[in-house]
Amino acid sequence: MLYDVVIVGGGPAGLSAALALGRARKRVLLSDSGPRRNAAAEHMQNFVTQDGTPPGEFRRIGREQLARYPNVESREVRVESISGSRGAFRVDLTSERVDARRVLLCTGMVDEMLPIDGFRELWGHSVIQCPYCHGWEVQDRRWGILALAAGASHLVPFALQARGWSRDVTVFTDGSFDVAPDVRAQLEAAGIRLETAPVSRLVARDNRLEAVELSSGAAVPCDVLFAHPPQRQVELVRALGVELDDDGYVRVDPMKRETSVPGVYAAGDLTTRMQAAIFAANAGTHAAAMINLELSMELALAGAL
Ligand SMILES: Cc1cc2nc3c(=O)[nH]c(=O)nc-3n(C[C@H](O)[C@H](O)[C@H](O)COP(=O)(O)OP(=O)(O)OC[C@H]3O[C@@H](n4cnc5c(N)ncnc54)[C@H](O)[C@@H]3O)c2cc1C
Repeated sequence: MLYDVVIVGGGPAGLSAALALGRARKRVLLSDSGPRRNAAAEHMQNFVTQDGTPPGEFRRIGREQLARYPNVESREVRVESISGSRGAFRVDLTSERVDARRVLLCTGMVDEMLPIDGFRELWGHSVIQCPYCHGWEVQDRRWGILALAAGASHLVPFALQARGWSRDVTVFTDGSFDVAPDVRAQLEAAGIRLETAPVSRLVARDNRLEAVELSSGAAVPCDVLFAHPPQRQVELVRALGVELDDDGYVRVDPMKRETSVPGVYAAGDLTTRMQAAIFAANAGTHAAAMINLELSMELALAGAL
């Protein structure tokens, strides 16, 4: 089976791309398999018209709307490998091989859980990553921010911004780096507490965070902990050999959204640290428009439209 475009990943980026390409009358396979990034979250916030929609419901609506387009196939199938080149890709699915003129990667990122007792269990509920996504729901509660060495340069802006949602903010460095005197001074000026001792565990009751326990045995009361654990690309993306930036995100041409591998495009979380469902959806539509433009020109000139 020859598709114009195989889209790998059916989150906000892949769904949006499939919609735009479907409406442009391209033959599309949208493949999605495996856990979605926000699987642990109960509600998806900050997406206009969908604020508060459960993530699974968002995807269900997306697939339902795609079903109106007979030229779009939406399948719960995993892409195992991609070979070939621009115009003639071979895409190995779990059960069969298909051909594609273009490939669009919308595979998201994998969050690596930190080896702190309680972190994995509380991820997506009391341990969260984005105040725009969940800050409103926990406004004026006791906020903790887990600052890791890799994100030390973002500590001050993130912590000061957090004060817009809560007056009760504590930064935990988990003993991972030395806090410079000017950073300490800025946190203090904003009324933000600083705990530099290693974190030994997250104390929870009924799956809700109650305190962050330090190696000293002290328990700092907290209702929510913001954290940005390291992220990695899925194996398929690593195996493809597309160029990554210094932070591990897929490099794309900002206008065309094409990766370093000709004919392979990327959209959504895997390309940026600016991660939100609406950003991913926007990038998916953008990539789709660029792919469609290129394909339509090519096919029209070849007399194949
Ligand atoms: C806990 C949590 C809560 C969040 N809450 C919000 C929120 O409230 N509001 C908001 O805007 N953002 C939120 N986000 C961020 C948001 O979820 C992401 O920015 C968004 O989902 C990114 O969309 P995406 O399409 O790029 O990737 P994803 O949504 O991660 O989708 C990628 C899909 O590709 C699939 N896939 C990967 N490899 C393959 C393969 N080989 N074959 C087939 N399929 C594959 C994955 O299984 C996954 O289903 C949250 C994130 C987290 C971690």
